[in-house]
Amino acid sequence: MNCYKCGTLLNSSNRSKEHIIPNFLGGRLTSNYLLCQKCNSEFGETIDKELNRQLGFAANIIVQERHREEGERVVLIQTTSGKKAKVGKKFMPKPKLYINLPTGEQIEIIGKNEVELKKLALKKKNELEKRFGEFKLTEFIEYPTSEKFHFENSTDLPAGVMEFGGKDYFRGIAKIILNFYLVKRPAVKPPPMLLDYVCGRLDRNQFLFIYHPVHYQIHELANGEFSHIIYLRGEKELQAIYCYVELFNFEKFICIIDDDYRGEDFTETYSCNSVNGDELQKKVNIELYRHHIEDMQYVSLSHRKQRERSLHDLEKRIERLQFTF
Ligand SMILES: [Zn+2]
Repeated sequence: MNCYKCGTLLNSSNRSKEHIIPNFLGGRLTSNYLLCQKCNSEFGETIDKELNRQLGFAANIIVQERHREEGERVVLIQTTSGKKAKVGKKFMPKPKLYINLPTGEQIEIIGKNEVELKKLALKKKNELEKRFGEFKLTEFIEYPTSEKFHFENSTDLPAGVMEFGGKDYFRGIAKIILNFYLVKRPAVKPPPMLLDYVCGRLDRNQFLFIYHPVHYQIHELANGEFSHIIYLRGEKELQAIYCYVELFNFEKFICIIDDDYRGEDFTETYSCNSVNGDELQKKVNIELYRHHIEDMQYVSLSHRKQRERSLHDLEKRIERLQFTF
């Protein structure tokens, strides 16, 4: 077997243990036949790091909640940098503004709306000028989009911004899919666009990758369950291979990795408990038609709404956890 990123022949001295779903998210399924040590650590420093930055909080909340001391009633996020923050009613996407300091550093400010954001930025600038002297405030406001969302994660930390989305984030999700594909279908070449996208040779996301609008039940979620699901399917009639990925039951994507598939039908499902990594048996139900694939090119407002709703669901499930444990 060769490393799928650099092509080096894998042997006992250069191969590495790659987690299909990253370890920091609770993934336990691994393979020694995907990546060499060098490429594995390169991914670790780039796209895995981004996944951890954006989703590590969920792992931390859920695991922490289960080992929580009796009597506590506050949900705490412990971010990967060790910061602690409260959550609750905070998952509303908000605009973000950067302040460029004369030192070259950047400060992120998040506000309910543009007016509040500008007010906060001016206040912050005045404070900072006491330290750095006068500087010009160049405003760049970034609005939450279906590609990238920002959320405030704390009432105590002014710079507590959480993000979802962006290129490296999608590459991280695509790597989970590629890893799974290669483990389950080792004799078949992976779709080239997927491989190139994960390895950074394709800049734009040219295959179709979308947040899944859930208007029907994809699987049954047990009470208090937090899990990950990968469902890979090739359909002869649909002429497509697609993969559904669900992380912590709130990040939900469908990725069309081949829209001109001529092979036989196949299905591969993997699911695990995101707290202890135990494998779960899941029955997954996805209804996908050709017109869905064509529509996926147009990211609609409804996708964005679905994502917001999904985060609110997560928040509610976390609140519920406090009373069940
Ligand atoms: Zn390599």
